[in-house]
Amino acid sequence: MSIKIENLTHIYMQGTPFEKKALDNVSIEINEGEFVALIGHTGSGKSTLIQHINGLLKPNSGKILIDGLNITSKEVKLSSIRKMVGLVFQYPEYQLFEETIEKDIAFGPKNLGLKDNEITDRIKRAMKIVGLDYDEYKDKSPFELSGGQKRRVAIAGVVAMEPKILILDEPTAGLDPKGRDDILCNIANLHKEYNMTVILVSHSMEDVAKLADRILVMHKGKCILDGKPSVIFNEIDTLENVGLAVPQVTYLARKLKEKGFNISEEIFTINQAKKELLSIFKTKI
Ligand code: ADP
Repeated sequence: MSIKIENLTHIYMQGTPFEKKALDNVSIEINEGEFVALIGHTGSGKSTLIQHINGLLKPNSGKILIDGLNITSKEVKLSSIRKMVGLVFQYPEYQLFEETIEKDIAFGPKNLGLKDNEITDRIKRAMKIVGLDYDEYKDKSPFELSGGQKRRVAIAGVVAMEPKILILDEPTAGLDPKGRDDILCNIANLHKEYNMTVILVSHSMEDVAKLADRILVMHKGKCILDGKPSVIFNEIDTLENVGLAVPQVTYLARKLKEKGFNISEEIFTINQAKKELLSIFKTKI
């Protein structure tokens, strides 16, 4: 299920003194099964873009084709877009409202008009993916859980719709390190085991470096960089000019290189740094 975004422009409050061009002629293609990170400073247009991909917003001009279907056309129903594209908003746990976890996760699949046994199967699968035991948690109130667990329930609610494309807006924001790692691990599994196309909006270069095959950088409503992490993280000046940065460990590797260590410049994760440093010290010993 490929996504083709063609010359997308979105202007908020057009024709008023508050007019704002949030997307400016954006063209991007995303292939089935890709894991794409969308990064950019606040106000760069990331949320506006992802809300077009799940049909919440319509463009002023341009279009989006998902597997050849023009989802920006008025004839396409929102419900058919929702079947293909799941969107996990920022702080999705604020949208939990049912008295039990099972009922909350069932909400989306029920709206798809599925039979009860199919809904239960989907709830079980979704809870397994996010690491919550069905029997232990299904009858609990979502409000009894920790922040990280609540968020996993909210993500399970979207995952249970079994979309081919999953968009997550800052899914680790505000979580402690353990909560962050759990969520990142769940997302990596979703991508690997279900071959979902994932679009991850993130401020954390560390998260992006760990997971993404490809990075899109937004600035002032335009996509200014598009490439593999190794290519994007080499663009330190451009990233810093638009208020972004490379992972902290990449800065460390560059400093070590400047100091004369024979270290690769393509260090973007702690694990890569660990391997590289161990091999350097082994050769020195
Ligand atoms: P990001 O997600 O990267 O922070 P947004 O897509 O939210 O960026 O915003 C892009 C631009 O559009 C910003 O200048 C923002 O102020 C403006 N904007 C976003 N939503 C609205 C809205 N509902 N009404 C008017 N302007 C908006």
